[in-house]
Amino acid sequence: AKVNGRNQASFYDRSMSRDLVRRREIEAELRVAVQRDELSIFFQPIVDLATGRIKAFEALVRWFHPEKGELRPDEFIPVAEETGAIITLGNWITAQAAKAAATWPEDITVAVNLSPLQIKAPGAALGILNALREAKLDPRRLELEITETVLLDHSQQTEDFIAELSAAGVRFALDDFGTGYSSLGYLNKYPFGKIKVDRSFVSGPNAGKKSDAIIRAVSGMATTLDMAIVAEGLETVEQVEAVKAAGCTLGQGYYFSRAVPDYLAAMLIAQEREK
Ligand code: C2E
Ligand code: CA
Ligand code: CA
Ligand code: CA
Repeated sequence: AKVNGRNQASFYDRSMSRDLVRRREIEAELRVAVQRDELSIFFQPIVDLATGRIKAFEALVRWFHPEKGELRPDEFIPVAEETGAIITLGNWITAQAAKAAATWPEDITVAVNLSPLQIKAPGAALGILNALREAKLDPRRLELEITETVLLDHSQQTEDFIAELSAAGVRFALDDFGTGYSSLGYLNKYPFGKIKVDRSFVSGPNAGKKSDAIIRAVSGMATTLDMAIVAEGLETVEQVEAVKAAGCTLGQGYYFSRAVPDYLAAMLIAQEREK
């Protein structure tokens, strides 16, 4: 058993160091990825479930690495958060998203994901307002998606950040609703215009009658509070019908479209507006 234990330990050591090596590589390469033009922003439509029309696009970052291939944000965003690179990266993402949105019709907004660290950086709100000014995008056309984790520590910085941008017209959405504490207090305290119900309520092992009932309750509350409710991760027509019946007004997912590069987003808009 002793020998076995040792073998096992060295197996874990090896796989752990492989992960660590990859992390270190990502960490080092991320610093130059923007300059090398390896990163780009893709856009996934958010659709009005009643009319089928595109109301917004969510900006999702992609990294096309010359050797590693496409890296998912779930892999490199946490590294960028750890090293602090997320501040520069985040500002770049907001600027790119704002630039793209400025070319769309005025009734289409752009949603950008924010990391907790980004919000707490000094001058965070200013960085976003600068990006908007440079892109000449009306602040009301930017929506910032934040998760509950951001609000957990009740920090003054977060409050000021939200208050300052909200006063400028920027909108806020509560992302991944249902995965964290889902304290309803947040909904009262902060000016969220939208709640995004996490994909796990729509598909996967935990979706079903129970999650339908939860969506129904949340959407009832959202309507009362004058908030829109978005269902994420819609892949099938059955899921679309189910969330619609449960009261969701907006939807997002592969059923409508994956995230696409800016020129394809522009094509999706053009196609729709022709009708
Ligand atoms: P998220 O904000 O919850 O974004 C939605 C994720 O679900 C995206 O993954 C999207 O491609 C994926 N998705 C959309 N529809 C479907 C569907 O029908 N089925 C399935 N299976 N998945 C669907 P992605 O782009 O890999 O992003 C993962 C996470 O990484 C995001 O989750 C967000 O938390 C983070 N992220 C992405 N881009 C950014 C960014 O620019 N900044 C920051 N801070 N985080 C980002
Ligand atoms: Ca999001
Ligand atoms: Ca989400
Ligand atoms: Ca997520």
